[in-house]
Amino acid sequence: MRMPILKRSSAWIVVAVGLAFSATSILVAAEKPKDKRKAAQAERKRPAAEAMPELSAEAVQKIEAALPERATAKPKKPRKVLVFWRCEGFFHGGGIAGGTKAIELLGKKTGAWTTDVTREYADLSAENLAKYDVLVLNNTTRLKLPDAQKQALLDFVQGGKGLVGIHAATDNFYDWPEGGKLMGGVFAGHPWGGGGTWAFKLDEPDHVLLAAFGGKGFKLKDEIYQFKEAYSRANQRVLVSLDLSDPATGKVKGGRDDNDYAVAWIKNVGKGRLFYCSLGHDANVFQDPAVVRFYLDGLQFAAGDLEADATPKK
Ligand SMILES: [Zn+2]
Repeated sequence: MRMPILKRSSAWIVVAVGLAFSATSILVAAEKPKDKRKAAQAERKRPAAEAMPELSAEAVQKIEAALPERATAKPKKPRKVLVFWRCEGFFHGGGIAGGTKAIELLGKKTGAWTTDVTREYADLSAENLAKYDVLVLNNTTRLKLPDAQKQALLDFVQGGKGLVGIHAATDNFYDWPEGGKLMGGVFAGHPWGGGGTWAFKLDEPDHVLLAAFGGKGFKLKDEIYQFKEAYSRANQRVLVSLDLSDPATGKVKGGRDDNDYAVAWIKNVGKGRLFYCSLGHDANVFQDPAVVRFYLDGLQFAAGDLEADATPKK
């Protein structure tokens, strides 16, 4: 049946308006998750830098002021720490510079270790790793480890040495499940953004590795991750988590159905040990005395100098 001209154009208007409406509602509905996705993608895609950023004299002074007087445990022998900071994805200049300086200064002041620093994959060879007691992945992202280095890393830890991960050390190994399992989780976004000050609770206030916090939860300006895949309390001992009872922290909606947002954990891996802490997005984190002491203790645990129960709680 032929429609009269007028009726036919009105029908097109109705269709056009209807389409415009549904397009708008799709856009509005998608805007929030899309922004979150964009933020997560930005964390991965900012171009990597090849030079360690310089810290200002003031920033170094603030780290020095945050250092504890002495090591928590007496090293059983002179310890060597290798800090590795390569980024193939997002580059955390502040966290890399601040964290590396804190580790160097901690070792110098307390005598707990000496520190070497590198971003070269060649330095993760079995032969070179053999010189070290602890490997620290400081904010490494999207690492493209050659197969020999993957095996060397697994052998290093399983054979009795220590691995420490700072913040984006979990933003790696998306295509290497054993690597994700080694770290105890893989980055799945950061609903708690870097501009916020968030609340943290101690899962076990009396645990020896939490002495830095004096049995109490704390607040800190940082960017906090959620984890997927290998993350499970059955595989590691969780020490610190987000405190969702704090209004500002609890208001943010994370993506996990179980609301389990762990921040720091330890585990035994073969004869060796892992310490991971997601605190350390920016340099300010390494100017906080409690966090610096927590990293000292985590490194001493990883080195095998500070005994701590790493048995999973469930
Ligand atoms: Zn970050």
